[in-house]
Amino acid sequence: METNPCNKPINGGSSIPSRASRKTRQEDTIVNITGVEVGGSEIIIIAGPCAVESREQLFETARSVKAGGASILRGGAFKPRSSPYNFQGLGEEGLKLLSIIRKETGLPVVTEVMDTRQVELVASYADMIQIGSRNMQNYPLLKEAGMCHKPVLLKRGMMATIEEFLLAAEYILNQGNEQVVLCERGIRTFETSTRNTLDLSAVPMLKRLSHLPVIVDPSHGTGLRWMVPSMSKAAIAVGADGLIMEVHYKPEEAICDGYQSLSLDEFDLLMADLTKIAKAIGREISVPKVWPG
Ligand code: PEP
Ligand code: MN
Repeated sequence: METNPCNKPINGGSSIPSRASRKTRQEDTIVNITGVEVGGSEIIIIAGPCAVESREQLFETARSVKAGGASILRGGAFKPRSSPYNFQGLGEEGLKLLSIIRKETGLPVVTEVMDTRQVELVASYADMIQIGSRNMQNYPLLKEAGMCHKPVLLKRGMMATIEEFLLAAEYILNQGNEQVVLCERGIRTFETSTRNTLDLSAVPMLKRLSHLPVIVDPSHGTGLRWMVPSMSKAAIAVGADGLIMEVHYKPEEAICDGYQSLSLDEFDLLMADLTKIAKAIGREISVPKVWPG
């Protein structure tokens, strides 16, 4: 059994058959999001606003990130907010806006689902459903996502160990849905100068323990717009299969997470740098696919 430097067995020392484990499957799993493959040699950039706020905000941001090289669009319609008094998202109206711009740009869409009762609805609009950090251990939701036929973006719980993260993925895989992408998005530590502590060591660890693709969210991982470029570059250098980034056409006016969202120009500049880092490690950034929608 594999052990960590503290000689502690990984996966609790249990011998439970593990579908997420590299021992079960040696080859990397490639997850296909309506034609965009994550987990292969190409690096995938997912970009868009934290929340869908309006037609103008979403459409302008989406068109620009596509032009800048993003191959998947993000945007929350159902938002998990710490305060119940904050904007909770546009709900189905947000999903409808995502489907209109999806058709126009040809970019597949990823959006969050928070409740078992919404899985069918969200899956009917989205190309990939997102389970957020706060719901990583919502077992009924994981099972429901496992029963739907859409790829799942599973974000690491902010208090979850790598083992707990992989066991959460196991709930989805166990239901027959093998299209799972893991996302490191920062964990809570004693450090308060960043919103979370972006655990980039999770990337090589997850890639070693599991065959599932691993992407990084430098926006929630740092909570600092100015730090997003450096952590994005580091994430690619350390072996991430992609990035999910918050980008907003007017970050200073964003209803949600503007302080960690890149402007359209900042995104374009970063993409140029990421292309160089990818090349240096023998990979390429995936270019947006053109499909009829
Ligand atoms: C998000 O990606 O919109 C989000 C809420 O992230 P997290 O679940 O990682 O906090
Ligand atoms: Mn956000």
